[in-house]
Amino acid sequence: MKLNKDLIQNIEKKLDESQEELNQLIQKLIQIRSYSGEEKDIVEFIVKTMQDYGFEEAYSDKLGNAIGRIGNGPLKIIYDAHIDTVRVTESEKWEFPPFEGKIAGGKIYGRGAVDEKPAMAGYLIAGKILQSLKNDDDFPFTIYVVGSVQEEDFDGYPLHHVIVNEKIQPDAVLLGEPTDMKVYRGQRGRMEMKITTSGISAHGAHNEKGVNAIYKMNPIIDKIEEMNKNLPVVEPLGKGSITVSNITSKGPSMCSVPDFCQVHIDRRLTLGETQQSAIKELKTIFLQSYSDAEIEVPKYKGESWKGTKFEVDAYFPTWVMDEKDTLVQSGLDTLASIGLQSESGVWSFSTNGIASAGQLGIPTIGFAPGKEELAHSSKEEIDLKELKTATQFYALFPFHLIEKIN
Ligand SMILES: [Zn+2]
Repeated sequence: MKLNKDLIQNIEKKLDESQEELNQLIQKLIQIRSYSGEEKDIVEFIVKTMQDYGFEEAYSDKLGNAIGRIGNGPLKIIYDAHIDTVRVTESEKWEFPPFEGKIAGGKIYGRGAVDEKPAMAGYLIAGKILQSLKNDDDFPFTIYVVGSVQEEDFDGYPLHHVIVNEKIQPDAVLLGEPTDMKVYRGQRGRMEMKITTSGISAHGAHNEKGVNAIYKMNPIIDKIEEMNKNLPVVEPLGKGSITVSNITSKGPSMCSVPDFCQVHIDRRLTLGETQQSAIKELKTIFLQSYSDAEIEVPKYKGESWKGTKFEVDAYFPTWVMDEKDTLVQSGLDTLASIGLQSESGVWSFSTNGIASAGQLGIPTIGFAPGKEELAHSSKEEIDLKELKTATQFYALFPFHLIEKIN
């Protein structure tokens, strides 16, 4: 099975026939509420759909990710779309109810309409088309469609679980985070840190006997604010950032000198910045301030809808694929073949790529409809025509990849 006129035409024809089904599928995926950690219903729906579409395997793994397989060929590709969403909060003003999946004027609206249910709808229909066209002896791919859970809170972990614990080791990964129909090839990393200063408590009436932990934290906060302005710009990811996101203190009472102060840090990491380098920079600040402050990277515990417990460090490494890399180039070729601009870009936010590319070194790119800046907002919407074009991309991409490799 090769990229030729017949194949391209067959895919186009099948896609035209599936247009209505694709629209209904994205609508259904939006209608099934799937907040992080509460993905049981959507996973069951996706597994059932994979079975109905003739996928050779369809199941939910130990963590609770939906996994489907098409083909059994030597080139292994994971198509990953996280199918959890952030919550709808009371302050959000929606034009249409967030779980109605309203279609109007050629667009669909709702929670997850950008981040990132369209990719799953596209993967499923592309999978169905490939499954119906393929000849078993002559299909050079194994395509795993993964609906990953809990990405919003534990970016990377669900895909790490698929690759490491479920032992599905792909040659390449395609992510379905919104890219506005471009090929994305990297993202800034991020981490969290806690800085603690300790003092000596004393009665407020005898404060000269104490050492105030808040005052010890003060120069550190000032220097962090200064540091944020001076972080290096490294293209294509731009500049990292550092933000004091929380402060707490403790003492024996409100009328005492506090002996404990702690700040929480959000750190975005550009190319060349790592957990070690970010910690080292802060330790330099402590030295400059003659401070004995302590620093740690917090751990987060999670539990999936299947009851599987896990723990992750709050460190999500930066990754970037070279523009000239085979995977990126095959993505750009696919764009050109369907009449789109061959343009690459990077995400501002974090994705499951931190596991595949950042931690495990597996070539990774992303492609999907939708604007990144609409994610997590009440303005989530995509154009249904773009969803159809994206589905065409998903069906054709493996053939462009194998052509580039051979
Ligand atoms: Zn997302």
